[in-house]
Amino acid sequence: MLADGKNQPPKPSFVSRVLGVLIKAVVLLGFLFVFDKLLPSISEQTQSFVVAKWQQMSLLQQELPTENSLPNPLPDKRLTDTWGAARSQGRSHEGIDIFAERGTPIQSTTQGIVSKVGENNLGGRVVVVVGPGGAGHYYAHLEDYADIAPNDWVNQGDIIGYVGDSGNAKGTPPHVHYGIYINGSAVNPYPLLQKD
Ligand SMILES: [Zn+2]
Repeated sequence: MLADGKNQPPKPSFVSRVLGVLIKAVVLLGFLFVFDKLLPSISEQTQSFVVAKWQQMSLLQQELPTENSLPNPLPDKRLTDTWGAARSQGRSHEGIDIFAERGTPIQSTTQGIVSKVGENNLGGRVVVVVGPGGAGHYYAHLEDYADIAPNDWVNQGDIIGYVGDSGNAKGTPPHVHYGIYINGSAVNPYPLLQKD
């Protein structure tokens, strides 16, 4: 029987089998090590990207603001319709001004994604939130910003900044200039705000 090798299956030697297993184990451990180092950062990036895209999609599918639907960004402060009032250099007022003591917290009128936290000449310190239907909500002349940054998600009522007189409002009574932009054009926020 021993002499007749025909009926025996070809067996790899013990040493070569052990070597094979060892090589596979080393390769597997190598992969595990690489994935362990790389995967958390990849998956975090992927997760936040997917979440951001989902938030954008769901915002765009929501209704644009309708009449009397938005809360006052400065609760209890008086709303006056100053839309269209004459401004310097032939401009007309593309929003409304709501007056309050310097430093009064400004609440986002909608949920949305912060698209700007920064300065411009007229508005001074400004915050822009893109809300339902893709409408842009513009808050200007801030004294300071809340702890927010572009691409942050905010909920309705979240504080986005504080009333001031920055930009071309310097020296005037502190107020927030609130503007709404739909498809790039300013619309009057006054009818859209809740009056109580
Ligand atoms: Zn204004």
